Amino acid sequence: MFRPKRSRKPTDGPSHLGTHTIRQIRRSTLESVLAGGASTFPNEFGAILRSEEAGTITDLLLIPGTTAGRRHANFQLYMLPVDLTVVGTVHSHPSGALHPSEADLTLFRHWGRIHIIVGRPFGEFNWRAYNNLGAEVTLSVVD
Ligand SMILES: [Zn+2]
Repeated sequence: MFRPKRSRKPTDGPSHLGTHTIRQIRRSTLESVLAGGASTFPNEFGAILRSEEAGTITDLLLIPGTTAGRRHANFQLYMLPVDLTVVGTVHSHPSGALHPSEADLTLFRHWGRIHIIVGRPFGEFNWRAYNNLGAEVTLSVVD
């Protein structure tokens, strides 16, 4: 839910939204991500991560205009609603590699606080989470 409080300074980008460190992901959300990766295979799956509880990824947001290609999910971030619950991105790597590409690292640095990569075969352990610097972070899976 977006509650406008005061106008933001122009220098405040989306990467500064929110203050809680993301440490957890809901199991149902993780399962949706893995299912999305499997269903769009061999193309990439991409979505936005939302947090409606402090510190926990709770939802996926599928944004209009996101095109899935064989090599790279192309996020149309300008299509995003103004939403303080948006915390980062998730996309799939059909190759199964779970490390970020150079293009991924550029996206991570410019936008969002937490990013998940899922890979083939999209089982419960076929994913990794990264911070905006591209360093791997541990997320607990919670019911
Ligand atoms: Zn990637």
